[in-house]
Parts: sequence; C-alpha cells; structure tokens
Amino acid sequence: MTAVTVGAMALTGSVFAQDKGAIGIAMPTKSSLRWISDGDSLKASLEAKGYTVDLQYAEDDIPNQLAQIENMVTKGVKALIVASIDGTTLSAVLQQAADAGIKVFAYDRLIRDSANVDYYTTFDNFQVGVLQANSILKGLGYPEKAGPFNIELFGGSPDDNNAFFFYDGAMSVLQPLIDKGDLVVKSGQFGMDKVGTLRWDGAVAQARMDNILSAFYSDGSRVDAVLAPYDGLSRGIISSLRGVGYGTADQAWPIISGQDAEVPSVKAIIAGEQYSTVFKDTRELAKTTADLVDTVVSGGTPDGLDTKTYNNGVKIVPSVLLTPYEVDASNYEKLVVESGYIKADDLK
Ligand code: BGC
Repeated sequence: MTAVTVGAMALTGSVFAQDKGAIGIAMPTKSSLRWISDGDSLKASLEAKGYTVDLQYAEDDIPNQLAQIENMVTKGVKALIVASIDGTTLSAVLQQAADAGIKVFAYDRLIRDSANVDYYTTFDNFQVGVLQANSILKGLGYPEKAGPFNIELFGGSPDDNNAFFFYDGAMSVLQPLIDKGDLVVKSGQFGMDKVGTLRWDGAVAQARMDNILSAFYSDGSRVDAVLAPYDGLSRGIISSLRGVGYGTADQAWPIISGQDAEVPSVKAIIAGEQYSTVFKDTRELAKTTADLVDTVVSGGTPDGLDTKTYNNGVKIVPSVLLTPYEVDASNYEKLVVESGYIKADDLK
C-alpha cells in the first residue's frame, strides 16, 4: 500500500465518514408537541450517523411545505423525510425529487397519489383507533355496565390518510355496539365527511362539540363518552364540555380518548378530565426512520418491511409499522414517565 492510499483512507475515516450528505426533513407544524419531538429526534439520529440535516416546519400551510421541499430538492439532499400536511398535494415536487435521484420517505403520514414515495415509516394506525375505542369501553365499564351510553364521534383531518385508519379502527369496535343500541350517537353524525376535523384543529373540534351539545343535549341528557383521535382535539372538546358544566360533582366528565401523550393531556388524565391517550414513541419512529434512510442512502436493501397495508392510490408503499399503546391514569407512569418520554417534573 502506498503512502497516498493510506493517506486517502485516513481522510475517508476522519473527514468523509462525518459528511454523508444532507437529508431534508419536512414537518407539518410546531403547534403540536409531538412533531417538535419527532423533528428533534430525527435530526439527532441522522447527525450522529454523519449526515447534515435541513429541518423545516410549515405551520400547517400547504404552499409553505411545498416551497420548503422544493428548496431541499434544489439544494441536492440525498433523501427527503416528509410528514405531510395534505398527503395528496406533493406529486409534482416528488417527481422533481425522483428525477434528481432523491429517495423519499413518508414519515408517520402516508403521501398519496404518487409513485415517487419509496418507503413509509409509521405506527399501526388502525390499531390506534382500536385502542381508543377499547379504552372508551373500559372507561365506561362496558359490558358489566350495560348502557345504553351516549357517545359522540370525532375524526382527524380528512386530508391526512391516518385519520381514516384511526376512525376505521375505532369503528371496527364501536359500530357493532352502536348497531346493538348499547352505544347511541345522539347527533346522528357518523363518517369522516361529518366528523372529520380539518387540520386537526382543536378550536374546530370545540366549536363542533358546542353545536352538538346545544342541538342534542339541551334536554338534560348526558354525553357519556367522546371518541377523540388526538389530544389537541380532546382538549378543545373538554373546554366545550366544561362550558356547560361537565367536570363537577353533579356532572362527571365523559370518557374521552386521545392520542400522542402530549404533556397537557397527560396532566388532564391525571386530573381525571381526559380518560386516556394513545402513546406512540416518536423517538422510536425517528430512530427507525434514520436507520432506514441510512441503509437506503448507503445502497443497502432494507428487509422485514410490510408490503400489504399501505396502498397510496398508485402503489403499495413498503412500510414499517410500530406499536402504539393505550395510556390512562393507571399506567402513564410506567409507559411515558419511566420510559423517559415525559419528565415527571413536567407533569407537576
Ligand atoms: C398523527 C397523530 C397526530 C395527528 C395530529 C396524525 O397524522 O399520526 O399522531 O395526533 O396527526 O397531529
């Protein structure tokens, strides 16, 4: 071996291994804590592997997210990790990415209607809905307590593919009981076209709950449960219910579900306002995604992917599905505090 090759190898080891190129990360919004934690964890994992990271948040503005991704493509990133705002609006920019040889990873939310989505990392989203529904039944004491119980249904944003999986998962449990009459939806509002909440906006959910309460519950009847797919919506719904006197000695809180184990909502669970949430360890999702990106960008072939569940309208996107967990007052310490996801002090 000549001195020159030894020198080049030394250089490879010390400098180039630390500069594997740039990865673009497009996140939807900072208005929800989970996406901040996702972005931070992804950035840290990728930097530890020797990549530079361009992390952008679009504040739920679709043109803003498009511009951010276009910019990353122009800058020549090696891969794009995208948690989309509207999973159907990215086809043109993803074509540009494909033309430039950039690999695209849909993060948590599926990107639809494009052949240029290479991989998808997420949680078992149908199971999230199943957990929410089963948790509501547990909170109601069903079937030992027979009901009938009044329940109202909320869905996530109709431009987010996940919202349909959450709703379908929950309804796979709830619909048979609605058909039996053990659960009653007094508003009669079913289906994502009626119960969806654009942009996952808590204020929109609060306004819809206000309307439901005045139109269908002013006769003195009680809301026993609310299916809410995300903690931010649960908080809006809780505010609405508080406004008409729930959460007092005479009028106990309904059983309300949620998702993401956000700090204010875990506090609400401890306070007995919200019954449960679904914990998805975003650190695990970030790490899994960073490992997958590294494998693919380094020319490797990932194995063990799910190739059945997620059809984006054009193709089945090879996916990784992580496990979600129901969290309530009985197990939040073990699942979210002991795991280090939330600091005990932050819940005081
Ligand atoms: C995510 C949920 C989140 C929701 C609102 C969904 O796509 O999977 O974890 O609650 O978006 O941000």
